[in-house]
Amino acid sequence: MHIPPPTPRQTYWNRLILNAFWVVLLVYLATQIIISLSISGERPDFSGKSFLINNILIPDLIILGSLLMLEAIHKWRPLLSELSIIIASHLIAILMISNISDEFHVKPLIMLIPLLVSMLYLRNIYLKASSILCLIYMILLFLSTHASSYMVRVQNVMIALILTGAALAGFGIIARGRELMNSLENSLKSEQELRIQNIIMDRLSKIDPLTDLYNHKTFHEYLGWLIDHQQSNPFPMQLAILDIDNFKKVNDQYGHWVGDIVLRQVAAMVLKHIGADDFAARYGGEEFVVILTAKKLEDSRRIMTRILTAIAELPITEMDGASITVSIGMHDYTGTDSKSSTFQQADDALYEAKKSGKNKIVIA
Ligand code: GH3
Ligand code: MG
Ligand code: MG
Repeated sequence: MHIPPPTPRQTYWNRLILNAFWVVLLVYLATQIIISLSISGERPDFSGKSFLINNILIPDLIILGSLLMLEAIHKWRPLLSELSIIIASHLIAILMISNISDEFHVKPLIMLIPLLVSMLYLRNIYLKASSILCLIYMILLFLSTHASSYMVRVQNVMIALILTGAALAGFGIIARGRELMNSLENSLKSEQELRIQNIIMDRLSKIDPLTDLYNHKTFHEYLGWLIDHQQSNPFPMQLAILDIDNFKKVNDQYGHWVGDIVLRQVAAMVLKHIGADDFAARYGGEEFVVILTAKKLEDSRRIMTRILTAIAELPITEMDGASITVSIGMHDYTGTDSKSSTFQQADDALYEAKKSGKNKIVIA
């Protein structure tokens, strides 16, 4: 039989029930001592040496031994902890019952212990087993009670009814508990799905699907945010606009699918060369934007030049090994620029680069 490893919650409950068993043992011991002391003069048979040994010491030592064994199983064989606790709860109850004098007619109520323990695990199989054991015990008890002791028989029937009521309530509690667990599981699952959906939606709204760079909208939001922060905390910043040269020809000559590959390769080249302080987006079509921050214009120009030459030197297999070039317009933010003037000046520089021969960087 394959028993799945206990979850942290199961381990927690096993521990809790073991603690409860220790409390039961202590209460049981205390009760025995108090009763023995309180009737020592009246009933010598309840306080003699042999009673103390046979009815207190030996059974308590057996319970103590069982609890120590349960502790060992809990520690070293956690897979069997749950089952051993269920079995031990029955054994301990039977031991307690057989140890208590028949004069105490309420003693069968001790069978409530294994019933309650079985309920705590929210598993019908345990409760069914406990109920069957209780039933067998009550039948045996009923049969062993002489017909003349009809009062005891009536009391036993009443106890049997209490145990039946407890078992039925237990089945109800288990059904309700499982229902709650299922609805909790479902709501956790849908919450998780919702969270994943949110992440996907968030990504879809920010990322360009072809190149995996940020999109136009995110670029504008980020540039606006950076310029707002420039007011309180100025830092060096440059905006570069990069446009693929004669891209229409690539599409016309090799097809749009090759054009798409080129766009992805240019995006990869840009990402490869920019640093952690920089930001790249696909502005649209075959135009890209890069925001470079926290470095001087010269350093930013060096980065953009590396991108320009790397692209020009990159053979594109799908274009029979030919390569493409890009033109870049760049503007160094001055502190008085607005978002639109920043963009306009970089765009003017790009226009200048295109006009003066392409495959170059112009700074405005
Ligand atoms: P220039 O050097 O002056 O920039 O010339 P160009 O041909 O690169 O510029 P133009 O604006 O004339 O053409 C840009 C082309 O980019 C036209 C359009 O079909 C193509 N394009 C825009 N978006 C995509 C895309 O997502 N995939 C592909 N394959 N082509 C695209
Ligand atoms: Mg263009
Ligand atoms: Mg172009």
